[in-house]
Order: sequence, then C-alpha cells, then structure tokens
Amino acid sequence: MNNSNWGSIYKELGLEPIINATGSVTALGGSIVAKEVQEGMDLANDVYIPMTQLEKKVGDQIANILNVPAAYITSGAGSALTLAAAAFMAGKDDDKIQQLPNTDGMPNKILIQKRQRYWYDRCMELSGGQLVEIGDENGTTANQLSDAIDSQTACVHYPVYEQEEIDKKILRLEEVIEIAHGKNKPVSVDAAGQIFPLENFGKYVRMGADFQCIAAKYMGAPHSTGIALGTEDVIDSISRHSFVGYESRRIRGIGRPHKIDRQEIIGVLYAVKRWMGMNHEERLSIEETKTLNIVNFLKNIKGIKVEIINNIIGHQPFGLSMDIDSNIYKTTNIDFVEILKNSTPSIWTRVPDGEESIVIHVFGMNDEQSNIVANVIKNKLEGLKI
Ligand SMILES: *Cc1c(COP(=O)(O)O)cnc(C)c1O
Repeated sequence: MNNSNWGSIYKELGLEPIINATGSVTALGGSIVAKEVQEGMDLANDVYIPMTQLEKKVGDQIANILNVPAAYITSGAGSALTLAAAAFMAGKDDDKIQQLPNTDGMPNKILIQKRQRYWYDRCMELSGGQLVEIGDENGTTANQLSDAIDSQTACVHYPVYEQEEIDKKILRLEEVIEIAHGKNKPVSVDAAGQIFPLENFGKYVRMGADFQCIAAKYMGAPHSTGIALGTEDVIDSISRHSFVGYESRRIRGIGRPHKIDRQEIIGVLYAVKRWMGMNHEERLSIEETKTLNIVNFLKNIKGIKVEIINNIIGHQPFGLSMDIDSNIYKTTNIDFVEILKNSTPSIWTRVPDGEESIVIHVFGMNDEQSNIVANVIKNKLEGLKI
C-alpha cells in the first residue's frame, strides 16, 4: 500500500479496491499468491510439459513431503470434493467414468451427519451423487450411521474444523472411519483449512480416511488451487476422472471443466514446500501484531467492546470481534459493517451468519492496512456518537 498506485489496475476499470478485513473470502478474490510461489509459477510459464506426468510427479512429491500415500492437485478443494465423489461412485471403470453424472448402477449416496451439513457439501453432489443426512439436529448415533450404510452408499463424508469447539453430539471421525470401514465403505474428509499445526496437514488420511482435501488458497498458492490427499487407489481414480484423463486418455470424465494450469501445479508445489519450511512462530507473530494494532487502538474507546480471537489453529489465526453499544452510538453492528464498506478506502468486514459481533480477520491485510482499519473505525464512530 505504500505506493500510490495501490489498486490502480482495478481503478482503471472503474472498480474500487477493497481493504480486506474479513479474511479469506472468495467473493473478494480470496488470497494473495506468495512471492516465492509467484516466482515458481513464472518459471513454469514458458515451457510445455505433458500434464499427466507433471500431475503425477508433483503429486508424488507432495505426498512424500506430507507423509501420506498419494496426492493430486485440483482446481480448488471444491474440485477435489467433486472428483473424490466421482471416484467413490465410478472408481476406475472407464464406462462408468463416462456415464457420470448419471449414476444408474452405481452406489451414489453420500452420507453426512445432519449436524455436519455445511456450505461446501454441495460440491460432493456435482458429479451426480446425492447427500443423505444421518441423524438429526440432536446428533447422530453409531447405530444410525451403521444402519444407513448399504450397497447404495458411495462414501461417508466428514468436514473437520479443529479451530472450533468440539461438537459432542456428532460421531467423531475415528468412530465414523471404524463404522464405514467395517462395512467396506470409504470415508472422505473436508479438511480444507487444516493446515496448521503442521501435524494436522494430512492427518486425517494418516488416521485412516480414504481421502481428504486441502484448500491451497489458504497457504499462499493461487486461490484457484487445491490438493486431494488419499490412498494410492483413490488418488489414481481421481486422476482418471480429471481433466488430464479427459485429454490424455481420451476418456470423457466429469473433470474436464476442473482444469488447472501447469503454472498453478508448480505454484502448489512451491506453496507446500514454503509452508512446511517456514518459520510459523514468525508468521503467527506477524498476524498477532496486525490484530493488536487494531485491538489496542480501539480497546479503551467508550461504547465498543473488542476482543482478540485467540486461535492459531487452521488457516486464519487471531483476528478480533467487535461490539458497538447502540446506547452510545447511532448505529448497530450490522449497520456499521455497511458504513465501513462505504468509507474511503472501502473496508470489508462482516457479522458472520448466525453471529452477532462484527468479526475482523487480518489474513488479507498488511501491517499498514490494519492501522488504517483501526483509524477508520475510530473516526467513523466519533461521527456517530449520540
Ligand atoms: C474454502 C473451502 C472449500 C472450498 O475450497 P476451494 O479451494 O475454494 O474450492 C471447501 N471446504 C472448506 C471447509 C473451505 O473452507
């Protein structure tokens, strides 16, 4: 932001650049490619390479680094979910691969605990499968899951959020793996954000899940990339459903529109190496400093309550929540989000669905921007004093 050209490429288009105080959201472009990653991508750009070989080589290297049997680069964690569902339904049978999304004659039920339904589970249905909820709002029992698994079951799907409090009403992943594997059915895990602590990276496959996805958007790779981790069998199957299979094997699988560039594949490799080799204490300290820039600036102002979010697990450490006292200011949390959006520069925050406080994340901000955000909040509030 130091240079006055900040955002000029967008301003020239008549668009207004945003200070992203809301974290990694796809609606704003999600994330910034790390410098080392961009360098690797530039090196990859002016050379052609057989994509099947590149996918295999990079997948093998990443599997090796992460200590899992196999890996595959996809166009986002969402694509990894869609391809995995395809793999669990059609396997390596080329006729079935070409039949999807018509699932006649294949197991096509994707089981998920009712309380685990989430925004991205839709990606599991895009290759033709159908989510089936097990249990209810009050939870799911081992018997309910066990009884629901039959010949039509493609897999059991399980999202994990280690940064959140444990939901005691749902079956633990260990139990789900035991029950599903007891009936010879695979388990897929959405671990898109589980990239820290480092031992969480790939953990669910090492625990016995057949597949997990990682969103490379959270770790300095292009926002459009993801990683499938899994058994050799599942990853081999995913590769056959992929755009590479479509073009190189001349098998028309559903993965064709999930295309990814060779630059992006190299970018993910660079991002994984960078992430595994980086000084995470330093990374966390930078995120904490940006958070404290805002918290310390605002904490003594009358009529607002700011609280640091003390979380370092997953992809989005620290950040803060903020509550405005409407007896002191002529605004509410919800309205103030709009006021910040309409300020200059425009600052995006949000009151997450189902919550009441404004949540500010520092993932998408540099040090200077965090200070700007603190100042704008203070100034705007001063003007709203009752
Ligand atoms: C972001 C995210 C996804 C989707 O990943 P993309 O790489 O954007 O396709 C899926 N699941 C979870 C939990 C996520 O956070």
